Amino acid sequence: MSWEQELAGAYRRVEDLVADGYLSQEEALRVQGVAKTYQLLIPKYYASLIDKRDPGCPIRLQAIPQFAEQVKTDSDSPDPLEDLKHQPALRITHRYKGRVLLHLTPNCSMYCRFCFRKSLLNELKGDLFSGGFTEAIAYISKTIEIEEVIFSGGDPFMVGEEILKEVLSQLSKILHLKRVRFHTRVPVTLPSRVTPSFVEALASSRFHPVVVTHFNHPREITPQSSRALLALGNSFTVLNQSVLLRSVNDNAQTLIALSEQLFEMGVLPYYLHHPDPAEGTSQFYLSVEEGKRIWEAMRRELPGYLVPRYVKDVVGEAYKRDVISS
Ligand code: SF4
Repeated sequence: MSWEQELAGAYRRVEDLVADGYLSQEEALRVQGVAKTYQLLIPKYYASLIDKRDPGCPIRLQAIPQFAEQVKTDSDSPDPLEDLKHQPALRITHRYKGRVLLHLTPNCSMYCRFCFRKSLLNELKGDLFSGGFTEAIAYISKTIEIEEVIFSGGDPFMVGEEILKEVLSQLSKILHLKRVRFHTRVPVTLPSRVTPSFVEALASSRFHPVVVTHFNHPREITPQSSRALLALGNSFTVLNQSVLLRSVNDNAQTLIALSEQLFEMGVLPYYLHHPDPAEGTSQFYLSVEEGKRIWEAMRRELPGYLVPRYVKDVVGEAYKRDVISS
């Protein structure tokens, strides 16, 4: 089956999750409203990793809508990192000196329940993703301090090869640009999309791309995702960023296993990200103090190169802040 067919057959309706035993009727009634506010999309591959007998399954918590997404706290925001306030051109977020985010698409292979952009990918979609790429490329071209373009969520691995090649080709002509980086959860949730033709498109420019995958739990490393990682690792630098999520990976043993298994696939841990206060995600929050304890326990057990930097975004700061320096 091709990745397009897989995506076409993905779960998009609560009723289908009930029919296949991922939700009871009673649970479905509770989450119908949530799935209307924040869209539901789960590839069957990723759903197959869920332990149906375990209501606290870490794969389930990342994929299946939960009633708790309706809870709003005073500190929650639909745009916690103020992407929309730092938008000097269509599809661009320019928050950090020397680097810009370029949003290729609002599409993702799965809509993750913890996503800090979940409002932007839903009701505010038009604001961040409208228009073609001409204005974005012109902005990067005229702003000579920009050395790196970061392709970020929606998921850049969801664009077609031709569009990707065209954008990379245009960026290649901008001489002050030195690097491109792709942040993606596709190898985690729809690894079949990492096809030879897509890898070829990624490699089609003068850049040596950095690919940052977003694995959060060792159970996401499977024969399928490992194949995707090895295919990417043959041509690119591959790093991993995890989000620290309550009840998903909020213990050192899980994160240690994740670092060790990623290393076997040639991937180095890069960031452990403290969760941002995004609307609809408060069930995943934990305190910085808890995060520090987890990170310190990782540091005691792992060699330094397998310990990710524990970071958080602070609005208004010019780079991610290290919660603890290693
Ligand atoms: S793939 Fe990334 S951008 Fe898309 S929903 Fe998941 S976390 Fe958000």
